[in-house]
Amino acid sequence: MSEIDLKHVASGKVRDIYEVDDEHLLFVTSDRISAYDYVLSTPIPDKGAILTALSTWWFEQLADVVPNHLVSVDDDRIPTSARGRSMLVRRLSMVPVECVARGYLTGSGLKEYAQGRAVCGVPLPDGLVDGSELPHPIFTPATKAELGDHDENVSYEQVAASHGEQLASRLRELTLAVYSRGRDIARRNGIIVADTKFEFGRTPDGALVLADEVLTPDSSRFWPADQWQPGRAQASYDKQFVRDWLTGPSGWDQESEPPALPDDVVAATRAKYVEAYERITGLRFDDWLARFR
Ligand code: ATP
Ligand code: MG
Repeated sequence: MSEIDLKHVASGKVRDIYEVDDEHLLFVTSDRISAYDYVLSTPIPDKGAILTALSTWWFEQLADVVPNHLVSVDDDRIPTSARGRSMLVRRLSMVPVECVARGYLTGSGLKEYAQGRAVCGVPLPDGLVDGSELPHPIFTPATKAELGDHDENVSYEQVAASHGEQLASRLRELTLAVYSRGRDIARRNGIIVADTKFEFGRTPDGALVLADEVLTPDSSRFWPADQWQPGRAQASYDKQFVRDWLTGPSGWDQESEPPALPDDVVAATRAKYVEAYERITGLRFDDWLARFR
């Protein structure tokens, strides 16, 4: 962190943000990995570069659906030490809503459905199981939690009450449009985007811009399409190795700081992130790294 000679503005679980000027930020993605709302003590080598490469590719693919915050990945103002895992971005006023789209039922969506046949106030048909495709994608917003807390699912009406009907409806519309485009592209490359989270921000003149990271394994559930089988937990491209190890062999009590990850879990997790990038984009991750050497 300290090798970056810019004013530090904020750090999230995974990113460190610096001020470049009034209108621009340096958005640096670290190799940190979080699970169960903890940032683990063991980094995943190259994870920051993989997430940056994938978001960059998606911003390009989605540019005709919505404008985005990416300005450049090779601007001179990006310090050499941070190249490949950093973006120069437009500085935005973030909308404090986690804009989640779901095309398939699982996770917190499945839990809510089991209790009342609806997710975030959206009614769903009977008979859906873990991994079922929904009749159509749904907008299931959440409020952003403080560091260490779970995000909380809310209804569209709650977003409208807090932020106005106009903004809520625009967020829903954009979220579903971006998800649908992303889903179709990933599906052609053998990956199901079960659900994903977007964050939007506003420019000084009020325009909504897609920000943060997009359609990465950290912000989405990716499932290999050829193994998809509703009615059970799906194989996935995200932190499954980490979660499986933490809840199983590690012996972790789920209350204290999680233990350091063993080398094989780190290697398997890194390989999954690389595979997700390469399958979705059809590009080689080594070529991305070479660009910054
Ligand atoms: P939290 O910030 O709550 O810890 P997180 O762990 O997901 O969430 P990171 O992904 O590590 O956070 O950091 C990204 C942060 O940067 C988020 O708070 C996000 O809202 C914010 N952000 C993303 N894009 C922009 C932008 N263009 N301008 C300003 N802030 C942004
Ligand atoms: Mg984030």
